[in-house]
Amino acid sequence: MSDRFYYWGGLRDLAERMQGTERLMMGCRPYGFHAGNLLSMVAYPLLLAQLVQGRDIEVRFEFQVSFNDIELSRPQYSPQHPYCLAHYGLTTFQSTPDRFGCCSSESVHWQKIIKDHYEVIRQRFPHISVTFTCTSEMLGDTSFFDVLLRTVNNQQEVAAVIQDTCGYGFPMGGCPLAGALCPQCGLADGITCVTENQTVAFFCRVCQRKFEGEFGAFRYWMNHLPLGIAKEAHLRSDLWITGGDYLGNNLYDVYGKLARLFEVSSFFGLQHLISPVVSGIDGHPMHKSKEDAFIVPLDRILASARESPLSELYFTPE
Ligand SMILES: [Zn+2]
Ligand SMILES: [Zn+2]
Repeated sequence: MSDRFYYWGGLRDLAERMQGTERLMMGCRPYGFHAGNLLSMVAYPLLLAQLVQGRDIEVRFEFQVSFNDIELSRPQYSPQHPYCLAHYGLTTFQSTPDRFGCCSSESVHWQKIIKDHYEVIRQRFPHISVTFTCTSEMLGDTSFFDVLLRTVNNQQEVAAVIQDTCGYGFPMGGCPLAGALCPQCGLADGITCVTENQTVAFFCRVCQRKFEGEFGAFRYWMNHLPLGIAKEAHLRSDLWITGGDYLGNNLYDVYGKLARLFEVSSFFGLQHLISPVVSGIDGHPMHKSKEDAFIVPLDRILASARESPLSELYFTPE
């Protein structure tokens, strides 16, 4: 069982036992960046570094920042299954055109913005290394590929783990949790078969066509739950820093069960630091897909988060 540390008290306890050389993983979907993301991805890691430094340790953390660009770009809402994992008609952030029109994709647009928020880490902690990696770039790693392969080839089993643990619903006929994108229409709406020697067959329901080729000839998508385990298999982090919104649907339990299923043993040595949920003007947690999400200057976030035992922080726009 991996250990969980909650909010400020957890952060303080962790800082007492860290060596200052650990690998810290924080990740997000590259399609927005609000105060809640800034808290878990920059402010909490920074506060942790400050406390460890306070023990007269030179902090040499490795920040592993990952962009989940192979997640599907829009969770489809269904009234029967509020958390339905339907994938019809969707594509990934990597394959979504930039809505602002200035970059090669939605993912690339947000990566630039998010990277800028880490400048403060470089200034205040020159010995902390920050690496940014897209999940699409991890596909070439054997450990990552193995989790993708197992997800594609054991869809029902993986779906059952998720459904039993967090109650996510699946549409009639089951729902894939990973696969190829159609080379013609770019959508995830199809059936994928991947073999051990990395040959891929994909049937697109939209184009009604079958495609075959080498693994590298396709783009891929993956649900965020198996994706978390695939990232851990590749990055072998010591600590994940995530927002408190993960607690609501038992997602840490899902991750644990998937790690067991995919035999990613490093997950069980992981520690989890959970940052407070950030709520906005309407009193509800900020969400990228909601209009009310906004950014708050880092110093304001640091001032609110430091010493706060609360599981939820509130901010109003400037
Ligand atoms: Zn852009
Ligand atoms: Zn197609």
